Amino acid sequence: MSNNLEQMEVWFITGSQHLYGPETLKQVDINSAAIVDGFNASQKFPVKIVFKPVVKTPDEILDICIQASSDKNCVGLITWMHTFSPAKMWIAGLKALTKPYMHLHTQFNQNLPWSEIDMDYMNLHQSAHGGREYGFINARMRKNRKVVVGHWQDENVQKQVASWCRTAIGWADSQGLKVARFGDNMREVAVTEGDKVEAQIKFGWQIHAFGVGDLVNYIDKVTDDEVDKLYKEYETIYDIANNCKPGAEFHKNVREQARYEIALKRFMVNGDFKAFTTNFENLTGLAQLPGLASQRLMAAGYGFGAEGDWKQAALLRIIKTMSTGMEGGSSFMEDYTYHLEPGNEAVLGAHMLEICPSIAAKKPRLEVHPLGIGGKDAPARLVFESATGPAMNVTLIDMGNRFRIIANTLDVIEPLEKMPKLPVASAFWKTNPNLADGAAAWIYAGGTHHSAYTLALTLDFVETFAEYADVEFLLIDEKTTIPEFKKELRWNDVYYMLANGLK
Ligand code: MN
Repeated sequence: MSNNLEQMEVWFITGSQHLYGPETLKQVDINSAAIVDGFNASQKFPVKIVFKPVVKTPDEILDICIQASSDKNCVGLITWMHTFSPAKMWIAGLKALTKPYMHLHTQFNQNLPWSEIDMDYMNLHQSAHGGREYGFINARMRKNRKVVVGHWQDENVQKQVASWCRTAIGWADSQGLKVARFGDNMREVAVTEGDKVEAQIKFGWQIHAFGVGDLVNYIDKVTDDEVDKLYKEYETIYDIANNCKPGAEFHKNVREQARYEIALKRFMVNGDFKAFTTNFENLTGLAQLPGLASQRLMAAGYGFGAEGDWKQAALLRIIKTMSTGMEGGSSFMEDYTYHLEPGNEAVLGAHMLEICPSIAAKKPRLEVHPLGIGGKDAPARLVFESATGPAMNVTLIDMGNRFRIIANTLDVIEPLEKMPKLPVASAFWKTNPNLADGAAAWIYAGGTHHSAYTLALTLDFVETFAEYADVEFLLIDEKTTIPEFKKELRWNDVYYMLANGLK
C-alpha cells in the first residue's frame, strides 16, 4: 500500500512585520524562497516544501494558520523568523493551527561579512533575536514544537528538518487511522488492553472490532485462479520448501494462507483500514492462524498486532508510514528468548509467525510447520533472519491516566550460531545500555512484550510524534542508568497526575 507522499506538502512560513519597509520585506521573501528551493533541490525531503509569502500582521498569520489547518495536502508547517516578528501577532494564529509545526532557527547567511557588515545587514539578519521572541510565545502557550538550530544549507540541519517532515507525515497518517480487530484481545492478558476512546482522542485512531466470521465471508469468496496467481508471485520472491510446492504435502496449507492474504487485503481496502490485529484464541472458521498472510500485509505497509494488540498495530503502521522510501524495514516484534551467556547477553526476537519480511537480511524461505499451540492446522510462514545494524523497539502502553511510549535502542547482530530447527523469522540484538539495565528499565516502565521494531527510524521521529500526541515518552539508550530512570518514572507520575488527573 503506497502512502501518497507526492500529494503531501509542508508549508514554509516566514514571520516579519511592516516596520522594516517594503525593500527589506521583498528581500525577506526572496531569501525565504531561496531556502525553499534549496530544500526541494536537496532531494533529502520526503515531501514538497511549499513557499508562502512572508506574514507581517496578526491577520495574515491567522489566515495562513487557518488555511494550513483546513488544507488536505498540508501535513505541517516550517516556521522561520528571518527578522523580528512581534510574537503577540502569533497568538491567534497558533491557537487556530491544528497541524504540527516546527521552528527552524536559521539565518539566511552563514558567516558574518566581516569587512562589509553595517546596520542594514544587521537589520535584515535578525533570526538570532527574532527567533527568541517567537520561542517565548510558543513556550508561554505551552506549544509542543520541534526546534532545529543551524544554517539551512548545513547537511545535518536539512536532515533534522527532513526527519521532522516524516514525523508530520506520520502524524497526518495517525489522524483517522482505522484499525480492524479480528476477535478481541487474548484472554487474561493485561498489557494489550487499553482505552480506545482515549486513543482516538490522543492519536486519532478509529479502532473497530469484527467477528472472525466477517473475514471468513471474504475468504470463502476468493477464487482458485486468484490463489494460483498469488502463488506464482510467491515463487518469484521466496525460496519455497520442497514440501510446500505444488503436489507436495503442505502445498494446500500455503494456498490456504494465500486465500487469507487476498481476503484480508480486500477487507482492509474496502473498509479503508491501515492496520489489523488477529488472535489465535479467536480463529473460529479459520483452519490456520494467519501467518504468511499477516507477514505479507505488513510488507505491503499495513500495521499488525498479534493477540489483539491494536496499540502496536497502529504504532507499526505509523512507523512504516514515516519511513516510506527509507532504507531498513519495520516489523511487529516480541522479545522472545534470551541468550544469557555472561558478557554476551542478547535477545532473540521473534513471534509465533508474524514478523515482517521488510526486515529480512536475505531472501525469505516459505515453510509450513505445526504451531504447537492453538490446535489448528500447520500454518505457512516466511522464515528469515533480520538485517543487522542499529535499530529500535518502540512500544505503547496505557498507564490508566495517560499513554506511555517507550523506545529502546538496539544493535542487531548476526546470530552467534546457526539455528537450523527454528521455524520462524527472527532478529538477534544487543539491548542498550546492556541487557540487564535495558530490560530492567523496560520492565520498570511496564513496557509490553510486543513492540514495533524498526531498522529505519531513529529516536527523534518517535519522540516528536509523542510530543504532538501529548503523551509520555521514555527513552532507554546507551546513556540510561537505572537510578536516573526510576526518578524519571516518579517525576512523570507526578507530572501526569497534575496534567491529566489520576484515574
Ligand atoms: Mn505475542
